[in-house]
Amino acid sequence: MQNQPALHIEGVERRYRQGDSVLEILRGATLSVWPGESVALIAPSGTGKSTLLQIAGLLEHPDGGEVFIGDRATAGLPDKERTRIRRDEIGFVYQFHHLLPEFSAVENVMLPQMIGGLGKAEARARSSELLTFLGLGARLEHRPAELSGGEQQRVAIARAVANAPRLLLADEPTGNLDPQTADHVFATLAKLVNASGFAALIATHNMELAGRMNRRVTIKDGEVVEHS
Ligand code: ADP
Ligand code: MG
Repeated sequence: MQNQPALHIEGVERRYRQGDSVLEILRGATLSVWPGESVALIAPSGTGKSTLLQIAGLLEHPDGGEVFIGDRATAGLPDKERTRIRRDEIGFVYQFHHLLPEFSAVENVMLPQMIGGLGKAEARARSSELLTFLGLGARLEHRPAELSGGEQQRVAIARAVANAPRLLLADEPTGNLDPQTADHVFATLAKLVNASGFAALIATHNMELAGRMNRRVTIKDGEVVEHS
């Protein structure tokens, strides 16, 4: 491991106004995820998992506290710089794959690399290699609608890591899959983290799958604590 977390959130606060009252969702949440480490975030619905991931991924601003991506403190950065860090250093996987329906699997994975400045031939070669590593070598030219749910989600994972981010954030990535497919997708994720050395923070309800990750945390009273 390197001597610095890929993600460190420190004392993060987030509250939502609900009519006259205020919902305090995160109240000083602190968490580090190290390079090469996979952490499962397990907590009941409504406790703030998605909120935490959105803040860690610089998609939302915390009301207090700080988010470090590597050694960069991000809370005070201009939006343009936050967007750059998000694009270059963070990959996202959601419950629904959000693949572009008109494009093939390999093209969906190529796009973020080409937006990142890579030439078409190199992007295709790298995407094919990554999809093959994830067991989709025979599905490169399929469109999303021609793939199974688990295959779609593995393409979404490939797209999320296509630019070799330092951090992968996944919000219930297997919530929409049957148990066997979910198991396969999780195995794929674990294999990828091991092979690539990026850090992964994955919200899930599935304890068995969380057991495959290096560490498990939960949200209690707005703070991040180890999951017992
Ligand atoms: P989880 O992902 O653990 O199910 P969320 O982070 O989505 O939880 O939401 C945590 C709580 O914050 C929920 O009670 C939700 O209703 C509330 N919440 C989330 N986003 C907003 C918002 N934009 N405005 C008001 N309340 C919100
Ligand atoms: Mg959620």
